Amino acid sequence: MHQWLSAEQQRRLFLDTAKAATDYREAAHLLPHVPQVGYREALERFDAPLPEGPVDAHEVVADLQRLSDGALMLPVGPRFYGWVIGASHPVGVAADWLAAAWGQNAGNHHASPAASAAEEVAGRWLVDLLGLPQSSAVGFATGATMANLTCLAAARDEVLRRVGWDAPAQGLFGAPELRVLIGADAHATVFLGLQLLGLGRERVTRVATDSQGRMSPDALRAALAEGPGQRQPAVVILQAGQINTGACDRFDQLIPIAHAAGAWVHVDGAFGLWARAAPERAHLAAGVEAADSWATDAHKWPQVPYDCGVAIVREEAHLRQAMSFTAAYLPEAEADERDPSHYVPELSRRARGFATWAVLRALGRSGVAELIERHCRIAAALAERLAAAPGVAILNDVELNQVAVRFGDSDELTLRTIARIQQDGVLMAGASAWRGQQIMRLSVSGGATDDAEVGPTVTAILAAWDAVRAADGAP
Ligand SMILES: *Cc1c(COP(=O)(O)O)cnc(C)c1O
Repeated sequence: MHQWLSAEQQRRLFLDTAKAATDYREAAHLLPHVPQVGYREALERFDAPLPEGPVDAHEVVADLQRLSDGALMLPVGPRFYGWVIGASHPVGVAADWLAAAWGQNAGNHHASPAASAAEEVAGRWLVDLLGLPQSSAVGFATGATMANLTCLAAARDEVLRRVGWDAPAQGLFGAPELRVLIGADAHATVFLGLQLLGLGRERVTRVATDSQGRMSPDALRAALAEGPGQRQPAVVILQAGQINTGACDRFDQLIPIAHAAGAWVHVDGAFGLWARAAPERAHLAAGVEAADSWATDAHKWPQVPYDCGVAIVREEAHLRQAMSFTAAYLPEAEADERDPSHYVPELSRRARGFATWAVLRALGRSGVAELIERHCRIAAALAERLAAAPGVAILNDVELNQVAVRFGDSDELTLRTIARIQQDGVLMAGASAWRGQQIMRLSVSGGATDDAEVGPTVTAILAAWDAVRAADGAP
């Protein structure tokens, strides 16, 4: 048998790497939350010609650590509020190591019975936690971008099938017109999905939203009433968790309106759908279970290591007609067997089910609920303390985990304060734009963030704001 490494070398490589990862995680709370080394310097470090021959295994992994040092973002840190990012739960990391060490391809159940089985059960657990119909079909994709695309492919194909058009076979050339209605404050990546699906990112009807970015029921009703006919194939895209405000659409009002017009309802719930997993927040997404498909992320709020998005479709047949394929060299699955590749647009891929199964099992229902509730509570506390400071405004109703902060009611002052905060590195928060204004967005979604971080976070933010004001000669 050919061996790249002797048994002893391999043992040392794996154990030393595990030790390095352990050391990193143990000291993570002491590291700056923002990389001190930027992209250009990182590229200079890595940039080298392809080695002409093998390089010692230990040296390769040691180099990877050395070259990355200082150029890593710190989502695993206690005060990480950038984007909406999870913190790689340790059990998920361990499960992911095994998935890689086992070298499993999750494409079909022959290639890895365990990967297919773990994925099937993890999918059922996800649907259970989110309070969605238990018979829904689940596909594991890279992230919510691909999960949205996957669900929207199922939506497109099914609404066209109902009017006699076989889109999976015939494509869209000559197909009946299909309307897509989407909230004015939807996430940018959903438009990428529409673009890739031949539905066009600009051809959609953008439905008006309220001050928090929630779709207006009256505007949806009016938009659906326009156009050639009630029964025109249509897809309505709703949202759980607007990226700046955290607001969820009023599903209990909107979904019946869309269904009355015969539309398919898809929900982008990348992070907001997780409100459903916390009893005290579940009301925020009341009625979402009536939709036809849902996309969410396991790598955001539930802390599964990157990458893991989840596509959920109420009717298994609708997902399968959009995603299945046959290949002579792949054995067909029996009715009680599940090939992961028939639920997403990928064949060969990482066994995401292992890490998802492991993290959900480690947390349990109460652990997930505690995580979501804790983060929402922290977001509310941050908002309250910041709003009390002079010159700081909170622009959203903080019901979930997102806080939109503005400094001195000025784009320039807000951006300068963010730059100062990032320079200090005590926490990470980034800029966004909301209603035409620059904001600092705090997204509380890191597993290492607990209530004790509220004080140090507020102190660091206000110190940066004070420094910016002092530089301007404010009293
Ligand atoms: C993050 C996010 C996405 C995109 O998800 P990825 O996992 O980054 O692909 C889509 N919609 C919303 C609302 C998000 O927050």
